[in-house]
Amino acid sequence: MPGALVPPAKVLRRLGVAIRGMEEPAVEKISEDTREDPFQVLIATMLSAQTRDAVTHEASLRLFRRARTPRTMGALRVATIQKLIYPVSFYRNKARHVKDACRQIVERFAGVVPGRMEDLLTLPGVGRKTANLVLILSHASRENICVDTHVHRIANRLGWVRTRTPDQTEQALYAAVPRRFWPTVNLYLVTWGQNVCRPIYPRCRACVVSSLCPRIGVTQEGRER
Ligand code: SF4
Repeated sequence: MPGALVPPAKVLRRLGVAIRGMEEPAVEKISEDTREDPFQVLIATMLSAQTRDAVTHEASLRLFRRARTPRTMGALRVATIQKLIYPVSFYRNKARHVKDACRQIVERFAGVVPGRMEDLLTLPGVGRKTANLVLILSHASRENICVDTHVHRIANRLGWVRTRTPDQTEQALYAAVPRRFWPTVNLYLVTWGQNVCRPIYPRCRACVVSSLCPRIGVTQEGRER
């Protein structure tokens, strides 16, 4: 039965130890470097969709060197934002969303990134993944789980959930994962997904939870390094 194959707490405890010393996800780095600034976390997360972490990090830094507030970033031309964030995926759309989101933060929220899910979701280009990460990293929420493609894939491989979309996975994980782990599920599984449980050729033989994992849907494993 999905959700009962592997005890999530046991897996997450092991992963929490195993990821120490591994490269952190780009948005976590931005969050630490900016003292959890909600605006920079929001923008970096918007840029991160379907983009490699190193590219997201560099693009975010280039953009923040030019502007670090909704007011100053919203005053940039879309073409300038495009140039600064290239080569993130969908940089044209993302540049437009960034500019529109800045304008709305200024006009509707007095220049402050809102701290409620329902408000964040009204911003252009902001979906549940971005909203959840902003709430967890910048508003210290313990009520949210942020699900991106890594979390979606690994939760299904582990058999915690059997879902088709990240939004379905998020809802299923609230039932499957003990509450105390909700804010860290993203950090643990994204780091694991980037280093070990990769989309293709996961490194199962080097995985600290291989004895607990049913490897659902895994057809080919990668080589140990
Ligand atoms: S054993 Fe393989 S499929 Fe399971 S979590 Fe580890 S790397 Fe992923």
